[in-house]
Amino acid sequence: MITIQGKGVSNGVGMGPLYFYQRAKATITRCTVDDTEAEWSRFKAAQTAAVEQLGELAEKARARAGDEAALLFETHQLMAEDLDYEETVEAFIRQDRLNAEAAVADTSTQFAEMFAAMDDTYMQARAADVKDVSRRILGILTGTAEGGIASEVPVLLAADDLAPSETVQLDKAKILGFITAGGSGSSHTAILARTMGIPAIVGVGDALKPEHEGRFVIADGGTGAVYIDPDDETRARMEQKREEQLRLQRLLETLKGQENVTKDGKSIRIYCNIGSPEDVPAVLTNDGGGIGLFRSEFLYLNSTNYPTEDEQFEAYKKVLEAMGGREVIIRTCDIGADKQIGYFALPKEDNPAMGMRALRISLTRPEFFRTQLRALYRASAFGHLGIMFPMVTSVWEVREAKKMCESVKAELKKEGIPYSDGVQIGIMIETPAAAVMSDRLACEVDFFSCGTNDLTQYTLACDRQNNDLGRFYDPHHPAVLRLLKMVADNAHKAGIWMGICGELGADLELTETFLAIGVDELSVAPGSVLPLRNAVRMTDTRESAARILAELAADHHRI
Ligand code: PEP
Ligand code: MG
Repeated sequence: MITIQGKGVSNGVGMGPLYFYQRAKATITRCTVDDTEAEWSRFKAAQTAAVEQLGELAEKARARAGDEAALLFETHQLMAEDLDYEETVEAFIRQDRLNAEAAVADTSTQFAEMFAAMDDTYMQARAADVKDVSRRILGILTGTAEGGIASEVPVLLAADDLAPSETVQLDKAKILGFITAGGSGSSHTAILARTMGIPAIVGVGDALKPEHEGRFVIADGGTGAVYIDPDDETRARMEQKREEQLRLQRLLETLKGQENVTKDGKSIRIYCNIGSPEDVPAVLTNDGGGIGLFRSEFLYLNSTNYPTEDEQFEAYKKVLEAMGGREVIIRTCDIGADKQIGYFALPKEDNPAMGMRALRISLTRPEFFRTQLRALYRASAFGHLGIMFPMVTSVWEVREAKKMCESVKAELKKEGIPYSDGVQIGIMIETPAAAVMSDRLACEVDFFSCGTNDLTQYTLACDRQNNDLGRFYDPHHPAVLRLLKMVADNAHKAGIWMGICGELGADLELTETFLAIGVDELSVAPGSVLPLRNAVRMTDTRESAARILAELAADHHRI
């Protein structure tokens, strides 16, 4: 048996023969042309055909995996027609007199390098998208057919990396799982695999060799382990795991419309994290009770300049209306650290994660903050809005932010613009300072939402972006769990609620712990709502709470 370790990005166990993805490669010839007009027309025709193909793919994806999957191809359509992209191709053709194939290939490289060099991991992942769009246009220009699986039986599909369009075009009935050499958890292929419910493992590097093709393989998308020619014990263990997962899947479907309540009657709210209004359908399909974190900075990241008050208002209103009266908590702009935006012109810092980010920027640029707050309060008239501030460390910051809220409300009142008086104000607890000061901070706000991604980073002094830190970045660390308990206790003493909106909220190993601590709300990716609901409904806090709290106090499980 050979064991290979990658990163599991879509849960589930896949078993079957290994098959390497056959990618039809377009052969690009490079030459200079005399008739640049004809070459430009060739590009325009290929671009139009690509946009049509992407439209068909979007419909196919919608039918198979829902609106979120379709959105990827709609985004690719926009990329194929993007003006900057088109103008770059045009310059290569008209000024450098390159043939259309070479012009598209060079534009693809230029744009992919630009995306890859950005600090933000989301934008970095867009390099794969621009390459995918260009590959499609090149395929049309050169008359090369799409790749696929030439196997009659279902397989575990291995590839260096898979583009979203390649993933969705594959015959799902033939795929038992994906294993890729490269890729990341936030790549669109990983997102699609999760949406389609197919196990996926990325980042196995060059461990998979051509000679492994056709051999029996098991891929565990939960742990990221790949077993080639597994021994009997491993096979039996994985079969059992798969059976359990299938049983759980069937059970989960029946949980839609049910309450998030433990066996002994304790309930917890399960909300969703979103980055844009387009994510709302996934919240509704998965029966999320509300939105616990709308990362508003994605509106800024998707824009080439500061989104105006009206643009922001429309986006917030759309989410509030679509959620039909369910609670929506919008976090004010959390820019800085890993999310850099050119037009913010933030000075270069040696330590951006500890620098000018999030609420610090809002308080330093009051007009920028005021614009966002005006948009938020205007939108509050259209639903059930909560506002929260990221990266708080001190009481004075919260007071200053609240003062700005009051001034914005007064302004709107004077202007006769309606807003809701019932907007709850909360803060994210994502620094040790905020956790330690949570008794004081609780007197200032209506709720706490713990950002465990950053809380872990700052508590353990471990850069969350650095994959090499591995086990050192440990959100289960007793220091993090103790802080969460302290925050929950201080919130409840002051009569406010406490939630978790970091990735840890969806970690089923800790659901009992969160219930024991008394967490009131967990905000997770839409796909995690039902597994979490199930875990809550299986828990009896009469049995587990005292034991867990004692363990937490003694740190039995980990030191
Ligand atoms: C967090 O830090 O846990 C969080 C939810 O915020 P973000 O991941 O956007 O920094
Ligand atoms: Mg954070």
